[in-house]
Amino acid sequence: MEILRGIAVGSGMAIAEAVVLEAEDYRIPYRSVPASEVPAELQRLDSAIQRAIQELVEQEEYLRTHLGRDAANVFDWHIGVLRDERLRKSIEDLIREKEASAAYAASTIMRAYQRRFMQMTDPLLVERMRDVQDMERRLLRNILGEQREDLAHLSKPVILVAHDLTPTQTAQLPETKVVGVALDAGAATSHTAILLRSWGRPGVIALNDISTRVSGGDVIIVDGTNQLVILNPTEAALEEYRAKEAAHLRLRDELDELKELPAVTKDDHRILLYSNIEFPHESAVGLKRGSDGVGLYRTEFLFLRPEGAPSEDEQYEAYREAIFGAEGRQVTIRTFDLGADKYTQQKNYEQERNPMLGLRSIRYSLRNLDLFKTQLRAIMRASVHGKVRVMFPLLISLMEFRQAKMALFDAMEDLEDAGIPFQRDLPIGMMLETPAAAIQVKEFCREVDFVSIGSNDLIQYILAVDRGNERVSQFYSGSHPAVLRALRDVVQACDEAEVDCSLCGEMAGQLLYSMFLLGIGLRNLSMSPANIAEIKKVTRLITIKHAQKIARRVLTFETERQVNNYLRDETRKILPEDPL
Ligand code: PEP
Ligand code: MG
Repeated sequence: MEILRGIAVGSGMAIAEAVVLEAEDYRIPYRSVPASEVPAELQRLDSAIQRAIQELVEQEEYLRTHLGRDAANVFDWHIGVLRDERLRKSIEDLIREKEASAAYAASTIMRAYQRRFMQMTDPLLVERMRDVQDMERRLLRNILGEQREDLAHLSKPVILVAHDLTPTQTAQLPETKVVGVALDAGAATSHTAILLRSWGRPGVIALNDISTRVSGGDVIIVDGTNQLVILNPTEAALEEYRAKEAAHLRLRDELDELKELPAVTKDDHRILLYSNIEFPHESAVGLKRGSDGVGLYRTEFLFLRPEGAPSEDEQYEAYREAIFGAEGRQVTIRTFDLGADKYTQQKNYEQERNPMLGLRSIRYSLRNLDLFKTQLRAIMRASVHGKVRVMFPLLISLMEFRQAKMALFDAMEDLEDAGIPFQRDLPIGMMLETPAAAIQVKEFCREVDFVSIGSNDLIQYILAVDRGNERVSQFYSGSHPAVLRALRDVVQACDEAEVDCSLCGEMAGQLLYSMFLLGIGLRNLSMSPANIAEIKKVTRLITIKHAQKIARRVLTFETERQVNNYLRDETRKILPEDPL
């Protein structure tokens, strides 16, 4: 039995067979074949190796004529490995001895090679792992050909293991039988992580090399509550986990009972808990889980599809669905936040050196005004169906806010000219996600109708830590005193200016921060619908006076560790049975 630790993106446990998803979406199920089919599998392997070598030779020739010898040599090594008799023999032995399918045997042996390279200390040799991965894919493509299987056709519950998932792949998970996820890559607030959290099933990411350790068909345990994955569990571990799974489900049922109750503190302060949504139907899902409406609609997910940007009408339909789903409650629509880790098809070709500091969010919108105005018209058209607010992401200057507002007024004018109704006085707000905006919050407060703090980005920019980079994820923390003080200052400035202030980053849904956030004066929090019941539970157990005392103490600490220890202890006093 082996235990791997990572970052949780969904609590609870899942016990099931793994399917390993390749970067090209291949899934390699463990499949044994009847003894009589072993010769056919050996033949499949042989033909696949021949075809793979042929492809490589052609590629090499092409590169040699077009780019010269150095570039062509890259494939020499690939060809050499595929011609290596020892490799072929190991795969053949596995097919014969375990009566395994050629795909399973090839994948298992190539993974063992990858692991060997990963353990080497020379970075050049570690890089070889990518070459082996590449060869594995090529072989599998040739073995499976048209037979490749995809996640949409799973026949039983499985745990998905992959190196990484794109936001688009993650968004498709609900349509499948996947009950848990374990990824090599990832960081707590990457958009893939955010989507996994709203999917609501157990997941652990940033596991480093799980995708090379697991083969399709292995039974594994994903323990989202304790942030770990267990490979090859013993019978005793399986039994223990089945009991834990049952206990977790009981806790979830208990939380479900809170759905209908408002989030009111013991000293009678009403806290508004909103949903963060990525797709329009989630607005209704959030309501079912007890939310007060939508605090953040990440509209850019509409744009991340192979067909390209949605038309004005398609967008209008989506916004209208989200607004209807909220049944008259407030819906805050954020204009598309493209760039950084969320690219449209067209953006894929323009790699930036520092995408997190690049042409993203409002900068991208103002550079693509037609696309932006189309969206603004769609939002304004939908605004007549409910209580809508609109906000712009990642502002660093008042000029950006004014330009974005201008674009919105242009969109209104277009609609007026066309005689299409819209809600003229809808609140226009900002996402406060950059140190520049935090420092200039007073000036912003004179112009905006509301402020929504995007702590995911605010943390990354205050601490200079790419939120999607697992190599620096240990530095990414909401508990850093600089972050906490910035939050306090922003909330205070908004209070003084009487501007409505909310927080919609992942911190809003983390129990650890609940008392601090209420203690510094926040009364509106927006989070993944999966977290609403838990946060509601804590708000109903505390008083604002107590939360204020805790926040004051937290703000005296000098290190992140002190903050974490203190908040963990104080939260445990209130919720002894809840995992933190
Ligand atoms: C944030 O940055 O905190 C936020 C809510 O926006 P996103 O996570 O979509 O960048
Ligand atoms: Mg953000």
